[in-house]
Amino acid sequence: MILILLGPPGAGKGTQATRLMDKYGLVQLSTGDMLRDAIAKGTELGKKAKSIMDAGKLVEDSIILGMIRERLVDGNRKNGVILDGFPRTLTQAEELDAMLVDMELGIDHVIEMQVDEQMLADRIVKRAAESEQVRDDDTVEVLQQRLKVYHDSTAPIIPYYRDKGALSVVDGMQTIESVASAIDDIIGGQEV
Ligand code: AMP
Repeated sequence: MILILLGPPGAGKGTQATRLMDKYGLVQLSTGDMLRDAIAKGTELGKKAKSIMDAGKLVEDSIILGMIRERLVDGNRKNGVILDGFPRTLTQAEELDAMLVDMELGIDHVIEMQVDEQMLADRIVKRAAESEQVRDDDTVEVLQQRLKVYHDSTAPIIPYYRDKGALSVVDGMQTIESVASAIDDIIGGQEV
């Protein structure tokens, strides 16, 4: 199964991805986590990515596509993958389709998590207050930039998937459990 979780920063994609991973035995592929890992390891890629991420901008498509390609092949050997935070541009979405054609695979579901953006800033502030290990990009200022990038670069992929008939929408403002159950209904207890 190939599942894409879409939604602005703070929509709860990571939380749902972790749950889906446990429940369905899927592999979570989070490009944000891969980049943070590269930063933690101090690689060249990590050094390049850090300032872009801290500014709330997008890392180049070619870098992201290179990272995802090999992991997609590996992940698919198991029950399937959840793509969390990827694709984030139309180019990434088109290139993903091309990769999947090569692998003779297709996208099963694209789930857009819709949230009230006024509430997102509150969530980010709360997350910062609760955690000692605050992400460098987890501030209200950077969030605003990330929301702008979401609207300019990522939101255009929503009609792309809608036209393909792959898109489902869930209300991401509900409790974690309710969002989880809405996602389960979409997946429909489907065998993976
Ligand atoms: P995330 O953890 O998904 O919120 O990603 C954190 C940051 O990593 C983003 O704000 C971007 O700077 C970068 N990033 C993650 N995924 C992508 C992607 N698919 N394309 C471009 N940049 C990305």
